[in-house]
Amino acid sequence: MSETTGISWAHSTFNPWMGCVNVSPACEHCYAEALVTGSMGLPVWGRDAPRRRTSTRYWTQPYFWNREAEKEGKRRRGFCGSLCDVMEDRRDLDPIRLDLYRLIEHTPWLDWLLLTKRPQNFRRFLPEAWRDNPPANIWGLTTVESSDYLWRAEALKAVPFVVHGLSIEPLLEDMPTLADHLADIEWVIVGGESGEEARPMHRDWVRPIRDLCIDRGIPFHFKQWGEWSPNAPEVAREQYRFEDGLVMHRVGKHAAGRLLDGREWLEFPQPLMETLLHSLDAITTRGSLPSRGCSEPVFLNGRFELLDRRLRCFQLTWVCLVARDFGIDNLHPKQLVLGHSEDGLDLLWSQLDGRHQPFYHSSGLGP
Ligand code: SF4
Repeated sequence: MSETTGISWAHSTFNPWMGCVNVSPACEHCYAEALVTGSMGLPVWGRDAPRRRTSTRYWTQPYFWNREAEKEGKRRRGFCGSLCDVMEDRRDLDPIRLDLYRLIEHTPWLDWLLLTKRPQNFRRFLPEAWRDNPPANIWGLTTVESSDYLWRAEALKAVPFVVHGLSIEPLLEDMPTLADHLADIEWVIVGGESGEEARPMHRDWVRPIRDLCIDRGIPFHFKQWGEWSPNAPEVAREQYRFEDGLVMHRVGKHAAGRLLDGREWLEFPQPLMETLLHSLDAITTRGSLPSRGCSEPVFLNGRFELLDRRLRCFQLTWVCLVARDFGIDNLHPKQLVLGHSEDGLDLLWSQLDGRHQPFYHSSGLGP
C-alpha cells in the first residue's frame, strides 16, 4: 500500500495487480494505462495482455498500515485498484482476488474502498458468504461518468456494503436523472479530468449534484476541477467556451484546485464503527434507541429482521449492550459478524484471531 496518495478521499492505495482494459468513456484518458504501459513499460493493457501481480513485499504493506491504525486508534481508508479494476472479468485473476479477500479480513483497521467500473461483477467475484453480508471494512464504489452509466449505481446496490459510493469522475455531462438513483447511496465523489487530453467540466454540472447531496444528507466530496477551471484565468494556457458562454481555463490540476462556490467540499461518510461507538456512548439503557442512522424499529414479530443496513447497524449496537450484560466490556463492534439461520438471525462473536463462536441467537432474547 503506498504510504501516501494524492487522492483526497483515501490515505493510501493498494493494487493487487497492474493492468486493465478500457470499458467506457471514463477510461478514454486512463492515467493508469499511461503510467503502467508508458513510464513503467509493462505490456499489461488490453483484453489479451497478461496482468502483473504486485510483489510479495508490497503485499505486506497493508498489515503494517493496519497495525499503525490500530495503535493510533484511527481507521484508514485504502483505495484498492488505482492501476487495475478489481472486478475485471477474468478468471485468471481469481486467485489474486482470493488473496485480496484474505488480506481484507486480516486488516480490520483499514476501510477498503473497492472502486470499479464493473459493479455487476461484485456478486460473481466476492466470496459467496460476503454477497449478502460483506465485511464492514469494505466500502463499495463505482464510477458513473454520465447518465448512460447510472445503471452501475443500481448494480452496486446488489451487495449490502456498509457504504455505497458513486465516483462521478470524470464528470462528462449534466446528469439530470441522477436523483432517481441516489437512494441507498452513502457517498458521492465528483471530479474533473486531469491530463493533456482532459475534457472540461461545466460548473453547472457539478452544482446540482452538490445540492442534491445536501438535500438528501449524502456526504459530498468535490475532489478537483481537473485540468480546466472556471477560475484563475491569469495563468491559463488555453480557453474553452461552453455553448452557454461559460469559459473554462486550462490551468492544470494543481492551480485549478477544488473550490466550488468559494469553499472546499471534502465530506466523508460516517464510518460504521464510529457511528456505533457514538451510539454506544449515547445509550444508557437497553430500551433507548440510538438517534443517529438507526431510526427504524428493530425487533419485529418476536425476532430480529435484517431489513436494511441501518437495522444492521442498530443490531450491532444492541448486541454490544447485550454483551455488556454478559460482562463482556471490551467487545468491539468490528469483532461482530452477522449470519443467517433458518429460524432467524444468528449473531456471532468474532475474535480477531479469526475464530468465531456463537454468541447470541435472535429467537432467544428480546427487549
Ligand atoms: S477501468 Fe479504470 S484502470 Fe481500467 S482502463 Fe478504465 S480507468 Fe483505466
